[in-house]
Parts: sequence; C-alpha cells; structure tokens
Amino acid sequence: MTSAEATAGQSTTVGSATERTTGERQAALQAIAAEVRVCTRCRLAQTRTKAVPGEGRPDTEVLLVGEGPGQTEDQQGRPFVGRAGDLLVRLLSTLGWRRQEVFITNIVKCRPPGNRDPEPDEIAACVPYLQRQLEVLDPAVVVTLGRFSMAHFRPGERITQIHGTHVPAPATTGARDAVTFSMFHPAAALRSSDVERQSYDDIAALPRVLREARMRRAQGRAASTHAPAAATPVAAPATLPPPIAPDARDDAPTLF
Ligand code: URA
Ligand code: SF4
Repeated sequence: MTSAEATAGQSTTVGSATERTTGERQAALQAIAAEVRVCTRCRLAQTRTKAVPGEGRPDTEVLLVGEGPGQTEDQQGRPFVGRAGDLLVRLLSTLGWRRQEVFITNIVKCRPPGNRDPEPDEIAACVPYLQRQLEVLDPAVVVTLGRFSMAHFRPGERITQIHGTHVPAPATTGARDAVTFSMFHPAAALRSSDVERQSYDDIAALPRVLREARMRRAQGRAASTHAPAAATPVAAPATLPPPIAPDARDDAPTLF
C-alpha cells in the first residue's frame, strides 16, 4: 500500500464522496485558520487587530455564519464573543445546545472599521475561506445570521420575509448537502425587542430542521449507493435522540 492509500484508508467512503475523520477535519480547519490569520486579500487586513477564522466542533452538523467580527471579536480573534455572542449563546441554550457543539464563523473574517457593512469586494475576497470551511465541515444545516450571510446562501431574499425558514443550500457555496436556515442577526435582536422575540421563536424550529436535513442526507446516501429505497429505512424523527445530551461534556463527541 502506498502512503497515500494508507492515509485515504483512515477515511470512510460513502457513495462517491469521501468522508474525513474528525482528526482530518480538525487539521484542515486549522490550516484554513492559519491562512486567514495572515491573509491580506482585502483592505480589511489593514485595520484589523486579529482576523477571526471561526471555531467549533470539527464534526458538528450545524454551522452558524454571521456577518463579520465586531470590536470584541477583533481584539480576541474569536467569533461572537461580545454582546451579540452572549445573546447567541442564550438563543442556543433554549435548545440545550452550546456554542462548543456547533461551528461559528462569519462571511468576512476581519472587522470592518467601525462595524460598517462589509463591501461586496471584501465579501468576494473572503468567501473562498467559508467555502473551504463548508467543504471540510459538510454540515447538515447552515444557519445564516443577518442579511449578509443570508444574501450569500439565499440571494435576492428579504430577511423580514424568510427568517425562520430553510431551503437547500446551493452547492456553489461549498455545502455538499445542507439546508440553510435564516435568522435575524443577534445584534439586531439586541436593538429591538420584537426582533429578539422573533429570534427565540425562529430558533425553536432548528432541531426539527436538523432532523429533516439528516433524513434528506440519509436518503441521498441510500440513493447514491443504488440500494432500493425500501431496503434502507430512515429512522423516524420520533426515534432520534434529543439534540444534545444535557450532560454532554465539553469534549464529548456528541452530535445532536
Ligand atoms: N457579529 C457578527 O456578525 N459576527 C461576530 O463574530 C460577532 C458579531
Ligand atoms: Fe483576508 Fe477575509 Fe480578512 Fe479580507 S476579510 S483580509 S479576505 S481574511
């Protein structure tokens, strides 16, 4: 066996797609993060303190995509660690989910000065990193937080009309087989109690969306192995475990 074959042998193959092991995902995500930290592909490099590649479980089923780092994130090099992040954690906690169990990143990895909107050319320069993160993570659900993230996954839509809903994510984003679920940005929820209430309502649908996405993926895999659909029953939603074991340890490989 060549060393390439030995390395490939650590992965499991499903249909024609090769799945990475958790360790391989971790290494690939770290390699992307290392590039982001020294990236100078757009003007935001000149004003950032630290780039914010994103963080979370390499084997998660859920990717959250915000807009761009704010002041606290720029200082710490971590996503959603300021007030918007605190609200995001509260929203996730209503599902029994914790931030360590998902993966959190942004459309642009460096802070726009004064928290201005990211420019189209800055987004275009930065999205290849998100695309690569999507290819590695292969999430079942991509949650968009705010307008800019939504516009990337669901172009031409209006957040006020589609928040709380999901559609298949375009494969051009790097998502192999994901649905994308749209929410208001937590910073918008901090400014409006109506938006905050709506955000709590919207996120309540997320476990069901995840279960649906899992079934879609299981059916897609069954079809791609040419097995008759009836020969590969998919678990009914009622038999699935709850999203997260309440007592899951930080390092537990628990998926929801
Ligand atoms: N807002 C975002 O969109 N992303 C962050 O990381 C923090 C605040
Ligand atoms: Fe590079 Fe993205 Fe930062 Fe621009 S925002 S410098 S493209 S990492």
